[in-house]
Amino acid sequence: MLVRGIAFYLDSDLPSDAKLLLEDFRLAVNNAIRAGLQARVTSRNALVKTAYRDFRKQHPRMYAQHLVSAFEVAGSALKNHRRCIRKGVTGRIPYVKRLMMKAENQAYKLDRKSGVIDLPIRAGCHVELRLVVSQYHRKYLNDMALSLGSLTVLPDRVIVAFRKDAPKPFAPESALSLDTNERSLDGVLITDDTSMTVKAEFPDIAVIQQRHHERRKRLQKKKAHDRRKSRELCRKEGTREHHRINNRLHQVANSVLKFAEERKSAIVLEDLKGMRPERSKELNRRLSIWPRRKLHQIIEYKAQWRGVPVVKVDPRNSSRTCPICGRIQDSRMGAEFKCECGWHMDRHINASINLLQTAISKGVAGGLRFNPGAFQHDVMMILYEPAMAARSEPNGTSGIAGMT
Ligand SMILES: [Zn+2]
Repeated sequence: MLVRGIAFYLDSDLPSDAKLLLEDFRLAVNNAIRAGLQARVTSRNALVKTAYRDFRKQHPRMYAQHLVSAFEVAGSALKNHRRCIRKGVTGRIPYVKRLMMKAENQAYKLDRKSGVIDLPIRAGCHVELRLVVSQYHRKYLNDMALSLGSLTVLPDRVIVAFRKDAPKPFAPESALSLDTNERSLDGVLITDDTSMTVKAEFPDIAVIQQRHHERRKRLQKKKAHDRRKSRELCRKEGTREHHRINNRLHQVANSVLKFAEERKSAIVLEDLKGMRPERSKELNRRLSIWPRRKLHQIIEYKAQWRGVPVVKVDPRNSSRTCPICGRIQDSRMGAEFKCECGWHMDRHINASINLLQTAISKGVAGGLRFNPGAFQHDVMMILYEPAMAARSEPNGTSGIAGMT
């Protein structure tokens, strides 16, 4: 089952009954966390068993389903906490600061036509939340293949989880192979009778990372006397950086998906698992791998949602191998890959050709064949470039409904 969280803003301020509910809910979650830590349990069911009766007394008027869902939220906070401890990270005792509540799908009603949510607060008391519905939101509300999942209520917006069974990926008629680099995706597209090189550029992601890194360093120096403040400011910086980079990555992924969908392409990516940065420390940070991993995650997730097949292949030696004669060059080279056999090609495109060959040798791209030589004189197709970012995003943000 695939889940996508869609944020909706509210037509007016949250009714005061609902505000009180958020506060009660947060209290219940934090109490449940404490109870879970004491009883050393993390699963929702175990929490319900240990603490439900006391809770019913402490929150006599809260709608029972909300109480159960507070246990669920507490359970996931406890699981995170336990994971941190296992990893050796000294996590603080989990505590929910953010005002929020989560309602399971049986615990609220959404009229998909009018965009009005009916949220029970306690016996005999319901509130109505009117959602601001844009065209982007309509797409989700009107698509009856999507069922409703949980609802997360925040002080200024709600997040509705839409669910669907993963569609069966289509049988590919072409293959889009992409080599993932710090500033771009570079690759090739092959169909039955054509082949071309493609590129999606995102040079600004590295720039954003660099700029935020410098700002963080400055902050740390300036606030050296106050570690608490320094840590807080750095965390804020980090969140902002992630938001900006994520936003850009989503746009890049969307353009890749659109391109692949229109041409019924299987997408070939390198498997970045286990890939470790190599070079010096200073460079390592700049070339931090997380935006690339994140980009793959987003592409794979969106591909699953739309039924576009994705193939991951082992990238070993893909940037050093000659696709014509198979020689492996031992040193890193400049922007161009050159081989003794006479083959030369942009280094990144060369890597994507090798990825494609691996995928084809595994039989994952149907019966497609290609001749690497065909890429040497072709025009390049631009899938994405920074100028495209100027276009405004749809009215609403998507992300996985979650918390902490
Ligand atoms: Zn060669």
